[in-house]
Amino acid sequence: MSRNQELFTRALDSIPGGVNSPVRAFGSVGGTPRFIQRANGPYFWDADGKRYIDYIGSWGPMIVGHAHPAVIEAVQRVLGDGFSFGAPTEAEIEIAEEIRKLVPSIEQVRMVSSGTEATMSALRLARGFTRRDRIVKFEGCYHGHADSLLVKAGSGLLTFGNPTSAGVPADTAHHTTVLEYNNVEQLDEAFAAFGDEIAAVIVEPVAGNMNLVRGTTAFLQALRERCTQHGAVLIFDEVMCGFRVALGGAQALYGITPDLTCLGKVIGGGMPAAAFGGRRDIMAQISPLGPVYQAGTLSGNPVAVAAGLATLKLIQAPGFHARLGEQTAKLATALTDAAREAGVTFNAASVGGMFGMYFAAHAPQRFSDIQAAGTPLFNAFFHHMLDAGVYFAPSAFEAGFVSSQHDDAVIDATAHAARAAFAALAE
Ligand code: PLP
Repeated sequence: MSRNQELFTRALDSIPGGVNSPVRAFGSVGGTPRFIQRANGPYFWDADGKRYIDYIGSWGPMIVGHAHPAVIEAVQRVLGDGFSFGAPTEAEIEIAEEIRKLVPSIEQVRMVSSGTEATMSALRLARGFTRRDRIVKFEGCYHGHADSLLVKAGSGLLTFGNPTSAGVPADTAHHTTVLEYNNVEQLDEAFAAFGDEIAAVIVEPVAGNMNLVRGTTAFLQALRERCTQHGAVLIFDEVMCGFRVALGGAQALYGITPDLTCLGKVIGGGMPAAAFGGRRDIMAQISPLGPVYQAGTLSGNPVAVAAGLATLKLIQAPGFHARLGEQTAKLATALTDAAREAGVTFNAASVGGMFGMYFAAHAPQRFSDIQAAGTPLFNAFFHHMLDAGVYFAPSAFEAGFVSSQHDDAVIDATAHAARAAFAALAE
C-alpha cells in the first residue's frame, strides 16, 4: 500500500472524509488524495516522495511560489516576538495602507482570517448600510460557506432561492436571489422587479469556482450601473482574482469600481488572512464606529500579516504580472495545441495568473456551459497528468493557478506530459 493510501485510511477514521475541505478528497475525480509533505517553488512532494508541478498553489495564495525565501524571512523575523496579541499593531496599519495603495477603491479596510469571513462580513455591512435584506449572487460563483451564500436559484426569477447545503435555513436562503452569470437581460429583469429591495450584488468579476469564466465587460458595467441606480452595494469578491489577474485585481483590469471588495488568498501569502474594504462612508457603519457588528480574535494576526506584506511587496516587482500573465497564457496555448495534435476537443484560457481547461470547443460564458463540458474526459486527463507528476485541481469545476516560479522549463514539462495524456485519451 502506498503511504498516501495508508495516510488516507488513517485520516478517514478521525477526520470526516479524511480531509479538512471537501475538494481535497478527490471525490469527483476518484482515486487516493495525495498527502503533501513539503513544497518549494512550483513543486510539491507527496508522502511517497513523488514530486508534482503544482497548478493549485493552495487554491491561489502561492503566487510567488512555495517557500519563497523573502516570505520565510519575513515570517521568521516576527515569530520570536509572539504569535497573537489581540491588540493593534503597526504592521496592521502597514498592510491596510499597502492594500489601499494597490486597490484604490478601498478607502478603509478590515482584516479577517478567511475569505468566508470577508464575504459574510461585507454582506452584513451592505445590509446594515442600506437597511435592506435581499442579496443577489450568480450561479457558479462561490463566495465561501456563509449561510446566505450557499443558495441556488429557485424555479423562476421571482421565486425564492433554495439552500445548496443541509443546515441552511430556507428562511435565510429566501433573501438570496441567484441569477445567471454574464446575463444582462436577467439582471435587468431582476432590478426592474425588486431593485429597491436589493442590499448588495456580490460577484466574482473573474470567476474561478466554476472552472475559469471571465465576466464580460458589458455584464460588469451593467452591475455597476444598476447598483448605482437602485442604491445597492456592489461587492466584488476578489478573494481569488485579487492581486492575481492584475496587480490592482479585476477592478483594475476592467476599470470598474465596486463599492466594497473582498480579498483573501494572496493577501496572506499562504497564512490565514483575508480582508474586506471599500467606500469610507460604508466602512464607517462597522463597529466600533457604527451599528454593524464584526470582530475576530485572530484578525490582523501578526504572523499572517508579515507573510501577506512580504507577498504583496514581491508582486510589485516591475513586470511581475506581465510575466505571470505570459507564462499562464503560454501554458494555456501549450495545452490547447497538445489537445489539437491528438484530435481531442479541448481549449484552455487564461486571465493573468489564472487558467481554465475545458473539454469543449469554446471558452464558457456561464455555469451551464461548464456543466455541459465533459467531466469524464477531464477526470481521465487529470489522472494521466497526476501520474506524470502534474497536479491540477481535482475537479472540472475549478480554475488553475500559476506562480512566478513556473518558468519555461516547468511549462515545457507540463506540455510534454499533456501530449501523452491527450494521445491516451484519443485512443
Ligand atoms: N470567495 C472566493 C471567490 C473564493 O474563491 C473563496 C475560496 O475559494 C472564498 C470566497 C472563500 O474563502 P475561504 O476558503 O478562505 O473561506
